[in-house]
Amino acid sequence: MLDGHGERMLMKKTKSLCPTCGRVLDADIVEEEGKVWLVRTCPVHGEYKALYWSDADMYRKFEEYERIGRGWQTHRRPLLQQGAQTTAASARTTGRRHCLQTST
Ligand SMILES: [Zn+2]
Repeated sequence: MLDGHGERMLMKKTKSLCPTCGRVLDADIVEEEGKVWLVRTCPVHGEYKALYWSDADMYRKFEEYERIGRGWQTHRRPLLQQGAQTTAASARTTGRRHCLQTST
């Protein structure tokens, strides 16, 4: 009972629709039991709780990327091309050379 499960932690406020009447409602994105839920309460139809992300940690990472926004997406693109391999390879070589220098 005291392990923190069942605690609802507000992560973000958003807007969502009532699935029954389509009314725009204030919605809470909350973390509960390690999952992320979208909770909104319609004054007529009551509370609706929908699974938003099945993994709260994944959601936090996603939020980080979203905050960085387009910078992350444009940065990500070249990684799919050959350039990334060259960069990674040269970085590894530099690292190894650095290691040899410090050990001798
Ligand atoms: Zn409703």
